[in-house]
Amino acid sequence: MSDVEVARASVETSGAKVAAAKAAFSDGRTRPLEWRRAQLEGLLRMLKEESARIEAALHADLGKSGVEAYFTEVQAVDMEARHTLRNLRKWTGERRVRTSWALGPSRASIRREPLGTVLIIGPWNYPVHLLLMPLIGALAAGDAVVLKPSELTPESSRLIAELVPKYLDAEAVQVVEGGVAETTRLLEHPFDHIFYTGNGTVGAIVMTAAARHLTPVTLELGGKSPVWVDDSYPLERAARTIAWGKYTNCGQTCVAPDYVLTTPELAPALAAAVGEAVAEYYGSDPRESPDFGRIVNERHAQRLADLLDSGRAVVGGTADVAARYVAPTVLLDVPADSPVMREEIFGPILPIVTVPDHRAAVAFINARPKPLALYGFTNRAEVREALLTGTSSGGIAFGAVMVQLGVPALPFGGVGPSGTGAYHGEHTVRTFSHERAVLRKLRGPDLAALIRPPYTPRKSRLL
Ligand code: NAD
Repeated sequence: MSDVEVARASVETSGAKVAAAKAAFSDGRTRPLEWRRAQLEGLLRMLKEESARIEAALHADLGKSGVEAYFTEVQAVDMEARHTLRNLRKWTGERRVRTSWALGPSRASIRREPLGTVLIIGPWNYPVHLLLMPLIGALAAGDAVVLKPSELTPESSRLIAELVPKYLDAEAVQVVEGGVAETTRLLEHPFDHIFYTGNGTVGAIVMTAAARHLTPVTLELGGKSPVWVDDSYPLERAARTIAWGKYTNCGQTCVAPDYVLTTPELAPALAAAVGEAVAEYYGSDPRESPDFGRIVNERHAQRLADLLDSGRAVVGGTADVAARYVAPTVLLDVPADSPVMREEIFGPILPIVTVPDHRAAVAFINARPKPLALYGFTNRAEVREALLTGTSSGGIAFGAVMVQLGVPALPFGGVGPSGTGAYHGEHTVRTFSHERAVLRKLRGPDLAALIRPPYTPRKSRLL
């Protein structure tokens, strides 16, 4: 086939898939709770029966170890699906609310209704987790779904395209594979909601395309998530926690600690303690460790290799771009305006930037775009309070990194440049539902007559 023919076939395929999902929604099959429950059970069966293949695809795409792939992708989705199944009736049912006495006898309620056909666009860093996690809430809400996995993780994308129709309703849940051209074409369709996870530049493209149809969006974006460490917190404990968060999935995690702010006195000891944690986790040569992954592609590996000059490497500091390997690295003496501090790192490089105290750290954070996550390692209540009330971020955790995502009752999302909207647990169901206001007047006196003209003196006195 010529390039033109390939492009035309892909337009027809994705158009046909969107049309099929819309037709499935229109025929009403996605509304009953039984359908929603069956989809979630199908998803759970898929994770159980296909976990070995999913882990193999994640290893091929990102060099993820089996344990990490299971823990951060398969198990995370499995737990969310179970939690949603347990709460399905409660989260999707009609909720009575108090009505106004002025209406006379009446009943008011909020009905969570499916939005229709929704588009979920996933990124490459957790290609299974970040595509299927929102899917759970969309299915629970009774929507038809078009999934668009990232083209940068082709093995995972192919596997999802193969498995989803096997385990889920093959008409109501569609997978469209492909890159920028396919996504651009998909965005031309009038969806009822678009849920996008990825970088902010593409987030703006998605929002612009959605605006043409007045389609609401959820944008799960990224940014530089800072960490504050002070001397009131056990240093080794902070270092081990930060190192785990920074080097898991090679730092390619949207809520990974991006950089550390601390005092000049503490910085060298903290860097050394992170180095010890690296040796403990990955041995003396992390390149040989089966538990340390790889960068998604050579372009990103080169981008990261170029950032290694932004400071003095006291841990790691090497890269092999052809092998997509960047060593777990800690940089000291990092100027606040150096390249590594100008963009989201999204790799295993930890710059430590020094500031005089926590007040300066708060000012430093506020001088930059609002982050997705903010972390504090301090045992001082006034410092916790200063970070909480003096800054804004999607989420904040003290004494921990990244695991805030494991609390399903907590909304996960950014603020401003780090994202719009949130999900996880019931928040996902709310994201993919329309909360319809329902009012029913009951038999009884028609008090509303009081507010209808003519406004006689008697009516005015009564009101
Ligand atoms: P990516 O390059 O895989 O892009 C994400 C999706 O956008 C893909 O499906 C891709 O096909 C599509 N896309 C890319 N360019 C496009 C274009 N020009 N037009 C239309 N669609 C396009 O992933 P990424 O953006 O590199 O992911 C990394 C970023 O995502 C980081 O900034 C990270 O912080 C963020 N992220 C956020 C979260 C979160 O939950 N908030 C999670 C993971 C990653």
